[in-house]
Amino acid sequence: MLIGQGFDAHRFAPERRLILGGLDIPHEQGLIAHSDGDVLIHALCDALLGAAGLGDIGHHFPDTDQEFAGIDSRILLRRVMDSLRERGLTVHNADMTIIAQQPKLAPHISAMCEILAADLGCALARVNVKATTMEHMGFTGRGEGIAAAAVVLLTEANA
Ligand code: MG
Repeated sequence: MLIGQGFDAHRFAPERRLILGGLDIPHEQGLIAHSDGDVLIHALCDALLGAAGLGDIGHHFPDTDQEFAGIDSRILLRRVMDSLRERGLTVHNADMTIIAQQPKLAPHISAMCEILAADLGCALARVNVKATTMEHMGFTGRGEGIAAAAVVLLTEANA
């Protein structure tokens, strides 16, 4: 078993789509990033890469590369999974937390889990997404942006 953790944060900006866990969430603003700004998938990718000892998302998909401008972060997640599979690694489970004051995310959690389980190639029961606020404290609490944290456990085929 290999454990990995990831963390990411992005700032809100008007007139952008809010994409979290591969889902388009209705909100008056979205997250600024070189990609689609899916902070949850970025934290998840970093957890996967960390568990595999493969560095971080910025190393694999640099924000100076036009190939990744506005890219659907699910494409990045699937590429990360491809490189894990090449190394005989599969996901045992993934647990994630989104830290956001707004919008309310509870209605979207199960759809996010379905999307992520499909991309991770594991059972829905092994994927957990939680959402919390910071009780109006700090940058997420002031509504300046959204943060996300992820922990994954990988299984090695030949271990
Ligand atoms: Mg990011």
